[in-house]
Amino acid sequence: MNDNQLLRYSRHILLDDIGIEGQERLLAGHALVIGAGGLGSPAAFYLASAGIGRITLVDNDTVDLTNLQRQILHTTERVGRPKAESGRQTLAGINPEVEVIALAERVEGARLAELVSQAGVVLDCSDNFATRHAVNRACVQHRVPLVSGAAIRFDGQISVFDTRRDDAPCYACLFPPDQQFEEVLCSTMGVFAPLVGIIGTMQAAEALKLVAGIGESLAGKLLLLDARSMEWNSIRVGRSASCPVCGHAHGEQS
Ligand SMILES: [Zn+2]
Repeated sequence: MNDNQLLRYSRHILLDDIGIEGQERLLAGHALVIGAGGLGSPAAFYLASAGIGRITLVDNDTVDLTNLQRQILHTTERVGRPKAESGRQTLAGINPEVEVIALAERVEGARLAELVSQAGVVLDCSDNFATRHAVNRACVQHRVPLVSGAAIRFDGQISVFDTRRDDAPCYACLFPPDQQFEEVLCSTMGVFAPLVGIIGTMQAAEALKLVAGIGESLAGKLLLLDARSMEWNSIRVGRSASCPVCGHAHGEQS
């Protein structure tokens, strides 16, 4: 690290858990952020300010006036512009040392798998089950830890799916892909603005911990927040043997 970096990251370096070594691991890290909306905004903000080396920010949408109530990466004058590029611009202003790769595309299939395989951690900041399941499958396949967040109305949830650990579940263990869950989208339902800030910021915290190799992640635990009462519930979750994505039953049949 040069003198500027030692100053910029000094409040991290002062932490015994992080120190120079931990900060260097962050500087060498690469986070893939799927979605530059309500969750992706605060998540990417903290990843950039904290000095993660590279952020790939994926979003195929453009900034809309209705986004600005909560999607803090974007500004009024960027309405109509691609969110990924707007996010890159904001993050460059906070920390020009961070390499931000802005992808204004909907990534799926082989392209998604390729991006996941190149990342050290993936943050699912999307707003629909199809994307969540696709990201989870790619993360299980390439053994990349997934920090998953969701927020709607006043309800938030966050967990880490890290199948490098034998006992830890993947997203599909909790939410089987063949079950029909009611799809509730921020785009149509309403969401309390700071809720996405709370959950997205926690996603950044979990991602930074994983990359720096500090603390204990939320793997095996699902946190649920009711922001009306600001009450948290923690649920222990284990791997499902019958999970079609990470379960043992899947591979033994062939
Ligand atoms: Zn699973």
